[in-house]
Amino acid sequence: MTGKDKRFPLPLSSVVDKAAGSARAGSPASARIATPQTATQNAAQNFAARSNAPSDLQLNSAARATPAPAGGALAAPLVSGAVRNAMVARVAKQGVRDGKVLAAMEAVPRHMFVESGLASQAYIDASLPIGHHQTISQPYIVARMIEILRANGNGGELNRVLEIGTGCGYQAAVLSLMAKEVYSIERIKPLHELAKTNLRPLRIANIRLHYGDGMLGLPQVAPFDGIILAAAGLEVPQALLDQLSIGGRLVAPVGERHQVLQLIERVGKFEWTNTTLEDCHFVPLRPGTV
Ligand code: SAH
Repeated sequence: MTGKDKRFPLPLSSVVDKAAGSARAGSPASARIATPQTATQNAAQNFAARSNAPSDLQLNSAARATPAPAGGALAAPLVSGAVRNAMVARVAKQGVRDGKVLAAMEAVPRHMFVESGLASQAYIDASLPIGHHQTISQPYIVARMIEILRANGNGGELNRVLEIGTGCGYQAAVLSLMAKEVYSIERIKPLHELAKTNLRPLRIANIRLHYGDGMLGLPQVAPFDGIILAAAGLEVPQALLDQLSIGGRLVAPVGERHQVLQLIERVGKFEWTNTTLEDCHFVPLRPGTV
């Protein structure tokens, strides 16, 4: 699967300055465990703790503490790739090894998925609020979940992937560089609309956004060779297990206050295996639509 970036008819170079040099990881080394923190705590702690916080998207890796430019995401064409490189370096340091996933994280302009006031924090290793009590997931966990999907014994090939919990659309954009077709479901109508708005300028041809209850999956499109849940339930809905292809992988946070990332592989028509991977922290999976 080469040349996936060609799926963006609008050259990503128009929003990503690839010329920037490699950047150093700026956050403290951490284990492969995503620490449970609220989005606000995450943002505040990371921003305060790091001397090289990307407080100005136009800064190179030797970032200074100056206010973010007015216009936030609108300043996209001027954005240096350095802060995104630094984010990717941190994600790699936390244990994500899949080069294709790291390249996709480098290609997708994360700042375009957060409101302009938070754009300067878009590349810190934290979840951030996107409204309606929901968050854009932490970069590490986005990368990690996709890496797990790709370790599928099929050379990382992903044909049809389903995401439950579109939120702002960021993970769907990263997935679009990994899979032939990406379907993503969101249960909160304004967030579904937000994702559409965020994704539109990137003109990604292989994402289909659905408004609905993701716990039901998309039986009309199934089977999927990969399913990612971006919200945590007490268990993985059977409907989603049924919509996995044989050999397919599902990655989901499971639990309430203490959550773990689970990998479920469908190994036969009526047989699934379940592996618990690491601690994580996600917003709750909820039934129905609003
Ligand atoms: N994928 C996002 C993360 C969004 S947060 C990213 O790129 O960062 C998780 C999202 O799951 C929230 O927007 C929440 O509304 C949504 N969600 C929770 N339960 C759901 C359900 N049953 N169906 C669809 N979406 C759901």
